[in-house]
Amino acid sequence: MIYLDNAATTKPCPEAVSAALEAMTDNFGNPSSLHRAGLNAQLAMDKARRTIADSLGAAPDNVIFTSGATESNNLALRGATAAYGKKRRKIVASAVEHASVDETLADLESKGFEVVRVSPREDGRFCPEDFINACDENTVLLTMMYVNNETGYVLPVKEVFTAVKRRFKDIVTHTDCVQAYMKLPVKANQLGADLISLSGHKIHGVKGVGALYIKKGIRLIPVVTGGKQEKGIRSGTESVPLICAFGAAVGKLSPTIKERYERVSELKARLAELLSAIEGVEINSPEDGSPYVVNISAAGKRSEIMLHYLEGREIYVSSGSACSKGQQSGVPAQFGITGKRADSALRISMTADTTEAEIEVFAAALAEGIASVRG
Ligand code: PMP
Repeated sequence: MIYLDNAATTKPCPEAVSAALEAMTDNFGNPSSLHRAGLNAQLAMDKARRTIADSLGAAPDNVIFTSGATESNNLALRGATAAYGKKRRKIVASAVEHASVDETLADLESKGFEVVRVSPREDGRFCPEDFINACDENTVLLTMMYVNNETGYVLPVKEVFTAVKRRFKDIVTHTDCVQAYMKLPVKANQLGADLISLSGHKIHGVKGVGALYIKKGIRLIPVVTGGKQEKGIRSGTESVPLICAFGAAVGKLSPTIKERYERVSELKARLAELLSAIEGVEINSPEDGSPYVVNISAAGKRSEIMLHYLEGREIYVSSGSACSKGQQSGVPAQFGITGKRADSALRISMTADTTEAEIEVFAAALAEGIASVRG
């Protein structure tokens, strides 16, 4: 199998699997229990929280565990607007957010918030001024993802957040860093972020766990209420096995962000070279985008047809965003990928473990597919 759909999910690393297993066998206590079994589970969870906090340059107190980035995004947007949005009723967002942000924004819009969605310019790039000019005294929240999951475009989060904070210090800044975390440096203070959403399964952890970084002093009204776990911000017994797996994956990947980035950049360059030899194939991702996500158009051949052709050869890629089950999200159009180019878009997403040989087999299969499949 050649797995090139790592933006959808990644294979859990052995360290994550054994950490989860330990928390399901030897160390299965409830971290809220007052006896030793509970304390041991609490200690294992504390270790994961510290590892993740360290990776963000933050304190463990600033990290809340959730069921995934979908929940982190909901908690960030709903929690911050509930806490701070009584008078300030405007939200500024990028127009290329993941559905877990975009659908939440739509819901907040239906509840009376004004949402201003900032689009990229014609070249697909975001102009920081467009965000800065959209913000004003009435703005409660600014949300923009760091790396776009469908195209790999990197958004100017740091420039925008620092400039906006200088002018309007009360605007809460949130960034969905799911596709940036453990791939680019994600440091809370450097980014100027009050809230950062993370997901475990995109970084070789396990599905069903995420985190929300909450800057000291930022108040969120909880979405899920109950037993007051996670300092009352997210009630519900923590999934210690998944949290431990998340922590183990971060502990493993944190020291190698730069080396892996360089390695995947080489893979992207090799992929671009191979694709340039196939007639009609276009690369929709920018050269300076995240190398981990490469969006291409396959010579007018419908994405789903090509996806299943490649699947027949045990090569797994995605059409558009995997989260939307093949449904077009409207995000590619924001980046100027429209018409036949959008209908034939495929997303290839790699890891540092992807090999050149795999890329070569993929490119050869793509060329054969283009020559043999209809429309
Ligand atoms: N944001 C982005 C940018 C994503 O790519 C994803 C996953 N496709 C999510 C949020 C949702 O993450 P999770 O699966 O952990 O809910």
